Amino acid sequence: MTKLTELSLKEMQTGLREGKFSSRELVEATLERIERSEPSLHAFLHLASESALKQADEADKYRKMDDGRQTPLAGIPIAIKDVLTVQGMPATAGSKILDGFVPPYTATAVKRLQEAGGIVIGKTNTDEYAMGSSTENSAYGVTHNPWDLSRVPGGSSGGSAAVVAARLVPATLGTDTGGSVRQPASFCGVTGLKPTYGRVSRYGLIAFGSSLDCVGAFGRSTEDVAMIFEIMAGHDSLDATSAEVSLPSTALHSAQEGGMRGLRIGVPQEYFIEGMQIEVQDKTREAVAQLESLGAEVHEISLPHTEYALPVYYILAPAEASANLARFDGVRYGPRAEADTLWEVFFKTRGEKFGPEVTRRIMLGTYALSAGYYDAYYGQAQKVRTLIKRDFEAAFEKVDLIACPSTPTTAFKIGVHAGDPLSMYLEDIFTLPASLAGVPGISFPVGFDGQGLPIGMQFLAPHFREDLLFKATYIYQQATDWHKRKPEI
Ligand code: GLN
Repeated sequence: MTKLTELSLKEMQTGLREGKFSSRELVEATLERIERSEPSLHAFLHLASESALKQADEADKYRKMDDGRQTPLAGIPIAIKDVLTVQGMPATAGSKILDGFVPPYTATAVKRLQEAGGIVIGKTNTDEYAMGSSTENSAYGVTHNPWDLSRVPGGSSGGSAAVVAARLVPATLGTDTGGSVRQPASFCGVTGLKPTYGRVSRYGLIAFGSSLDCVGAFGRSTEDVAMIFEIMAGHDSLDATSAEVSLPSTALHSAQEGGMRGLRIGVPQEYFIEGMQIEVQDKTREAVAQLESLGAEVHEISLPHTEYALPVYYILAPAEASANLARFDGVRYGPRAEADTLWEVFFKTRGEKFGPEVTRRIMLGTYALSAGYYDAYYGQAQKVRTLIKRDFEAAFEKVDLIACPSTPTTAFKIGVHAGDPLSMYLEDIFTLPASLAGVPGISFPVGFDGQGLPIGMQFLAPHFREDLLFKATYIYQQATDWHKRKPEI
């Protein structure tokens, strides 16, 4: 029965509708697989087995009563990164400061998936407050990469990427503030989407950097990711930054008709740099050559301010985080430290419960925002952010899509960046620029390195043109089978 979990989202949908198996069988198979792999992966922070089985029975019951129309995710198990709220399920954000917190409401993105019939089977591991690139900053222990258990799955949405790669659930939600969907997708050999900033509601997302945070999705193929996107995207009056821009068509089959013909793809020279893993360069170039053979027009382009993305991001994201995390004080949410005065409660709770990376970011951010340094750091970083955004605007006047590596290396060993935050930050150099510009991106597998680890590359598109990402990735995935390879776990 475990074979059921190997099906894609699309195949599960069809199989359920055609009565090939029931939702109960699917959920039971999923829970059994999770139980067997969790000891080695540690990808979940919370499992909702009982409620999942109950919902599966309901889905089966309604399917029998139904007149043939079914909601798209009816009876299908999914998992959610533990920075998004689901009513009645614990939400920790990977932090001890939220230990035991059970939110009274559900994030809009999750709610829309539930309304489409999706069954939330559990919450997945994340770096504390989504700050990190490996899940090593989770207060609840690291998640292991299903391709090599001695390596990280990437981060911060490492749990969500690992469970899709390990064929536990067909699709998951993650969040991408500076790369946290695209980088783990790349490390785990799955497809991961960061939508345009504002495209998916952030209501119910535990905030990190509010001008950067995006809710995204993981799946085994673009087709599955596009399906999740279509359901969860769109305006939400509960999020003031949610955009009122109509959704593009994600009809992929018609996309294939014209093939890649006429699609102009730009390859930015700044994304092929000294020090990066040579196999990542090679596989990206090979994929670009294949796109060309599929009919795309390939142009070398330049995004000249790329090198400033890292320092700009690591000023702005901590600055925003320092403001957002002020609310976690031991009074409103989670555990409270014993103390005699109110100030002591704040100091002790925060001092004891925040992990070292979160503490570092709060201090960096507070410093960058403090009177006397504000102009030199925060103000300056905002200006350079505009230049980075303009790089993309200029590029998208010449090309429809940008193609580049997702990460400079494949998945690294657990512990290699321990004690050296700067070397960890460098893992993000290829994902940060798109985050700062707010443009959408998708990472998808394009091969393996000599050690059998997946390599990913990304497409970036103009604001609100997720349809172009889906189209190009779909055509590529129709012509290749990298996304079908799976780890032995
Ligand atoms: N790795 C980056 C950071 O640590 C990005 C994290 C994210 O996108 N949530 O901030």
